[in-house]
Amino acid sequence: MTPLQALQKYFGYNAFRHQQEAIIGQILSGHDVMALMPTGGGKSLCYQLPAVLMPGLTVVVSPLIALMKDQVDSLNVNGIPAAFFNSSQTPDEQRDIITRLKSNQIKLLYLAPERLFGTENKLIDFLKSLPVSLFAIDEAHCISHWGHDFRPEYLMLAHIKDHFNKIPVIALTATADKQTQKDILEKLALHEPTVYVSSFNRANITYRVLPKNKSFNQLLNFLADRRNDSGIIYCLSRKSTEALAADLKAEGYSAEAYHAGLDHTTKARNQEAFLRDEVKIMVATIAFGMGINKSNVRYVVHMDMPKNIEGYYQETGRAGRDGLPSDAMLYYSPGDTIKLKGFVTLENNEEQSRVLLEKLNDMATYCELHTCRRKYLLNYFDEDTADNCGSCDICLSEFKKFDGTLIAQKALSAVYRLNQGFGLGYVIDFLRGSKSEKIRDEHKQLKTYGVGADISKAQWQRYLRELNAHGYLQITDDAYPVVKLTDKSEAILKGLEKVELTEAQIIEEKTEEALPF
Ligand code: ADP
Ligand code: ZN
Repeated sequence: MTPLQALQKYFGYNAFRHQQEAIIGQILSGHDVMALMPTGGGKSLCYQLPAVLMPGLTVVVSPLIALMKDQVDSLNVNGIPAAFFNSSQTPDEQRDIITRLKSNQIKLLYLAPERLFGTENKLIDFLKSLPVSLFAIDEAHCISHWGHDFRPEYLMLAHIKDHFNKIPVIALTATADKQTQKDILEKLALHEPTVYVSSFNRANITYRVLPKNKSFNQLLNFLADRRNDSGIIYCLSRKSTEALAADLKAEGYSAEAYHAGLDHTTKARNQEAFLRDEVKIMVATIAFGMGINKSNVRYVVHMDMPKNIEGYYQETGRAGRDGLPSDAMLYYSPGDTIKLKGFVTLENNEEQSRVLLEKLNDMATYCELHTCRRKYLLNYFDEDTADNCGSCDICLSEFKKFDGTLIAQKALSAVYRLNQGFGLGYVIDFLRGSKSEKIRDEHKQLKTYGVGADISKAQWQRYLRELNAHGYLQITDDAYPVVKLTDKSEAILKGLEKVELTEAQIIEEKTEEALPF
């Protein structure tokens, strides 16, 4: 049987997607492979189909027990004998699987990495006695510290090649930047692997970022014409998922919370209800979602900024797996960046902090973009694309550009007068001529004090960030970020160059969120 015939016979599909065919061919000829495909891209088929065609057993390592059962059930329905091993099974059930494995009656065996090497390699030694044809490592980025979802038990997989030197291994992930990719290849010790990177573009998802301002009201606005849609709303903290789910329920929405701190039964119940469309909205921490295969998620909202682009892209990627138009909305406050920076430096050593802070900065840059968001995301994963996607808030927006030279000059001279030693909040208060005692008396004497009183705090914040994005000024990465000039500043101050700014996209409210610095 050819791969195409098997595709039709066992999976009922007419054609391969992305690079499935090439990947499958490579495995069938005995080579190691790493495949990067977006969520919903069709990774499972890349090992399930070879499993059907190869003579022996395919061992699938996957981090999620919940997911295994679904996969195994649907394989069995398709007439492909599959089983999983996990701690929820009775000894009898496990014995039965072992018997079937011994008589070569199972084509795919799913297990978690800690099983494979648990109790002194008992299982791996047993597997050695079987004709194993292929190892598939799902969610392979879990092996890397640089990935956003490191799982220590994945490190044990580094020993697979010690035990099964000649058996091909396929590593699969929907999320790996260059560093993580390299790490996966090294840690798994793949032999001359071919790396396949599919396009990560999710053309049916529209990306939007809004400055966070009374985010619950913003959310209600967003949800107003999506009452019957299924969606995921991500929050940073466990507490806020429960609070937000309760608030949404009070507004008549069908919502439940999900986070790692909930007891097993509640988690399982909420997840099940969401998958069955009995609950429309899942308000969750990032603990929710990996391996959740729900095709009709119409939107993913981030109430807080994620820690990095990989996580953000994977989370937003859970929308629109069915290919229908879907939305990704993020409410952004610079305060989130500061909060996350605090966590990073608190929890990690210096080397790790450096990398994680860099990733955090990339994420903040994304939120403050004035150019196509899709392009930025795809470039981040080393994929090139057109300048204008036509379906992100920037490309869709009609925010006009205007000559912002005067505004820029006011801002830059304020920074200069303040000896480049103060944060964004202080510079803005100074520009606006705030009477606050926080502004030093000697600064109140300066000529620049109050030259920007006609512009609101929120607008100033936006302009200064845009000037930062264009490199006319710089906001440092310190714990207390300071606004400084750059080598591009002088030409502006001297009037040698003009600056274009974007009309502020701001929801003005009387009570502005206090700036965190
Ligand atoms: P991933 O694991 O990459 O997120 P899945 O393997 O779950 O994605 O596949 C996503 C969906 O696409 C599944 O419903 C799967 O059956 C379907 N699919 C996979 N390959 C094909 C194909 N060649 N043609 C049509 N549908 C496919
Ligand atoms: Zn765009």
